[in-house]
Amino acid sequence: MQRTEWDVIIVGGGSAGLSAALMLGRSRRRVLVVDGGEPRNRFAAHMHGVLGRDHSSPLDLLAAGRAELTRYDDVVIESGTVVSAAPLDTEAIGFEVVLESGERHTARRMLVATGLRDDLPDLPGLAEEWGRNAVSCPYCDGWEVRDRRIAMIATDASNTHQAQLLRQLSPHVTFYTQGANLPDAARAGLEARGIAIETRAVVEVVGDDEGGLRGIRLDDGTEHEADSIFVAPRPVPNDRLLRELRARTMRQNGVDWVLVDPSGRTNVPGLWAAGNIATAASSVPVAMAAGNVAGTGINGDLVEEDIREAVAARASDDG
Ligand SMILES: Cc1cc2nc3c(=O)[nH]c(=O)nc-3n(C[C@H](O)[C@H](O)[C@H](O)COP(=O)(O)OP(=O)(O)OC[C@H]3O[C@@H](n4cnc5c(N)ncnc54)[C@H](O)[C@@H]3O)c2cc1C
Repeated sequence: MQRTEWDVIIVGGGSAGLSAALMLGRSRRRVLVVDGGEPRNRFAAHMHGVLGRDHSSPLDLLAAGRAELTRYDDVVIESGTVVSAAPLDTEAIGFEVVLESGERHTARRMLVATGLRDDLPDLPGLAEEWGRNAVSCPYCDGWEVRDRRIAMIATDASNTHQAQLLRQLSPHVTFYTQGANLPDAARAGLEARGIAIETRAVVEVVGDDEGGLRGIRLDDGTEHEADSIFVAPRPVPNDRLLRELRARTMRQNGVDWVLVDPSGRTNVPGLWAAGNIATAASSVPVAMAAGNVAGTGINGDLVEEDIREAVAARASDDG
């Protein structure tokens, strides 16, 4: 099987991973990006809130990024999935990864930018609408449904905040509690701003005959029309490799997030993480920025190692 050595292996070629590759390529580092081709926002036809690219295709952005990286001879992007990672059994810091194909690669440093998976509530019809008429982020997709009928289906009582963000965009917001016990202050806030509260359970998302959205069905059979559905899925970081490498995590709102410093460095020497793998709050521009910072951080760390090695080599030459 093929085995190649790199300065840096980046697992995940979304906004974070490609942005890191750009900085490392510009630093003349030999970089391998391995990407499974399933960015989190692949379900959406358009992305928003991305300056210079507002209302454009998220996949076009990544294709443009990949095209830009072809300028840098030492950056290679490979389609595939990394199935395991382990520290090198040497004195020097380094990692070996194995791809699904069986290929093995080693690198001095590793960046995990594998994003996260949205674990949707188990509602018939919802997955089919995900990224089209069912979304989660008011900043990403709220303006498009301004003044329309918005159904916010709760997964947790704290989702009242999301409903309030939507109220900024439309006076026709209904908050479906799904059994969540609303604190008095949150309920009063919804009522005061004219957000309808529905305690009957939503049991189905209903499409229309043209492949669009008709609304939702409640457990007593009542149907409510809606133009858009908002939910707050549970974020599930794609962190298998980080766990294998024993990166430290911190539990926040029931999710274990990898602990990173502001440059994306984990507690494991030589291992970085950036983008949605490290925080669900990471939009495309934020993931891109995190990748940029991680790329420069990794290059700086490699430069420090290069200095140590050069000084040691010189000392042994002198000695
Ligand atoms: C429906 C929807 C709409 C959205 N709309 C917007 C929007 O309008 N504006 C906005 O700013 N943000 C939006 N987002 C958020 C946006 O998708 C994320 O912020 C962004 O994708 C994070 O980038 P990332 O590089 O961290 O992860 P991702 O883009 O998810 O990229 C991770 C990559 O890693 C790959 N990968 C995972 N595991 C492996 C492995 N083991 N080996 C190899 N490759 C692997 C995946 O295949 C994927 O290509 C939206 C999200 C959703 C769900």
